[in-house]
Amino acid sequence: MTNLQNINTSEQSLREVKYYSTRVVIKELNQEGNLWYNSCNTCKSKVFIIDGIAKYSKCSKENLEYSLRYLIKLCVDDISATAIFIVFENEVEKIIGMPVTNLEKIKASNIEDYNKIIITISDKELIFSVKVQDKQYGNRTFRSITVQSIKEEFDEVITALTVDDIR
Ligand SMILES: [Zn+2]
Repeated sequence: MTNLQNINTSEQSLREVKYYSTRVVIKELNQEGNLWYNSCNTCKSKVFIIDGIAKYSKCSKENLEYSLRYLIKLCVDDISATAIFIVFENEVEKIIGMPVTNLEKIKASNIEDYNKIIITISDKELIFSVKVQDKQYGNRTFRSITVQSIKEEFDEVITALTVDDIR
């Protein structure tokens, strides 16, 4: 288990990728707007829809097929520091507890129900496996932390280990 301060500050060169497990508390969403995007079914990159026609994904396929895919940014912390985690599809579904198409329908039909669901994201304590990379934008470098998987909550992890130990 690595704390956030170490993840934020450890020496790392551009193009280098590091993986950590870290136990943190979700403070809140760190974004405006939708928690999903139109994702190309082939390359998962963002698809833009112009006049009802899907255009512009990385793979530039004709007749793009696309679907909604979760993409959220979470503000998380532990006793050492805070950080922003980027979380995609399956892991967001674990946090929110429903597929993106369900949440999209709820948002469209009843914003109060939607807001109640969004509030439940905060204050969860989870163990995340994260992938850490430094990325360059112009002359600025920033550390990108992407969630790879979510482990069960801490107590359940202990239980699982104990069962394994007995075997
Ligand atoms: Zn594509």
